[in-house]
Amino acid sequence: MTETTFTPRVFSGAQPSGNLHLGNYLGALRNWVRMQGSEFETIYCMVDLHAITVWQDPAELRHATRELCAGYIASGLDPEKSILINQSQVPEHAQLAWVFNCIARMGWMQRMTQFKDKAGKNAQNASLGLFAYPALMAADILVYHATHVPVGEDQKQHLELTRDIAIKFNHDYGVDFFPVTEPVIEGAATRVMSLRDGSKKMSKSDPSDASRINMTDDADTIAKKIRKAKTDPDALPSEAKGLDDRPEARNLVDIYAALSDQSVDQVLAEVGGKQFGEFKPMLADLAVAKLAPIATEMARLMNEQTEIDRILTRGSERARAITAPILRQTYDIIGMVPPVTL
Ligand code: ATP
Ligand code: MG
Repeated sequence: MTETTFTPRVFSGAQPSGNLHLGNYLGALRNWVRMQGSEFETIYCMVDLHAITVWQDPAELRHATRELCAGYIASGLDPEKSILINQSQVPEHAQLAWVFNCIARMGWMQRMTQFKDKAGKNAQNASLGLFAYPALMAADILVYHATHVPVGEDQKQHLELTRDIAIKFNHDYGVDFFPVTEPVIEGAATRVMSLRDGSKKMSKSDPSDASRINMTDDADTIAKKIRKAKTDPDALPSEAKGLDDRPEARNLVDIYAALSDQSVDQVLAEVGGKQFGEFKPMLADLAVAKLAPIATEMARLMNEQTEIDRILTRGSERARAITAPILRQTYDIIGMVPPVTL
């Protein structure tokens, strides 16, 4: 079979499940902005259908979706250069997800560590949606025939599943229809850890607000959270090797490196030997300098809600010009009777 050449296309998204935080920014958003205006067509999504895999207060969900859009734009995504969409406004995502529910195998899904982490001890009481989540994520990506997906390290396993789904679909139907997507996991902070527990990733859904730096936190709050961040009593090492078995120290150094666009070695050459009492205020100043302008812009955009809604409506129209033909071809491949009007 000849290899199909796919248009270089980037898709990624975040959930309106709480506040956008520093991990989302360094692990995902910043790379999304870098890929915008390059050789790729870029599509970025607010994945509200993923957010409801755990219960969300309706008013808060609506607010969080608009705030996420404001966060995307304030971080540098341009609605002219990228297609910005709200997942539920592009129905082909959920339609293709059903097809993929019939491609993915139970055994594949049962291996997903995110489900195990999020379902916790009471997996029997988790929603079916939380279990099926990775099949919807595969559909989010493949309904655009996206070739590259920039994400944080925690999404690696879901992207492997996306590749498995594409390969199995192509194999089962004897086609070369879905691309085998490349994950893009880049930067000095692909897995930012909780400020309270160096073994857990920083997350929107962590009940402790002190565990994360929110993109909307003011300067005092950021400084306070960093001052209270868990650390060990030792001074900072002068080489990266000295961070082995010191997860909290490593996390703060990684954050500093990512925010200042330096390598960990460069940072340690500057701060090696310092105590946290000295390093933490340096990190707080840097974080405030980088994040405060984004927070200010987010707040301004949130006062222009009709403009946000207009951007999302326009985004969904542009998106559906891509997704509707791909869904139609998928239905055709699997043997659905074609609709009269195309
Ligand atoms: P939730 O806790 O509700 O799952 P989240 O904080 O994990 O929220 P998501 O919306 O699931 O955020 O993820 C959006 C993007 O941010 C994904 O690409 C994900 O890999 C990335 N990301 C999330 N948390 C981190 C983190 N701590 N470090 C680096 N990247 C992250
Ligand atoms: Mg997540």
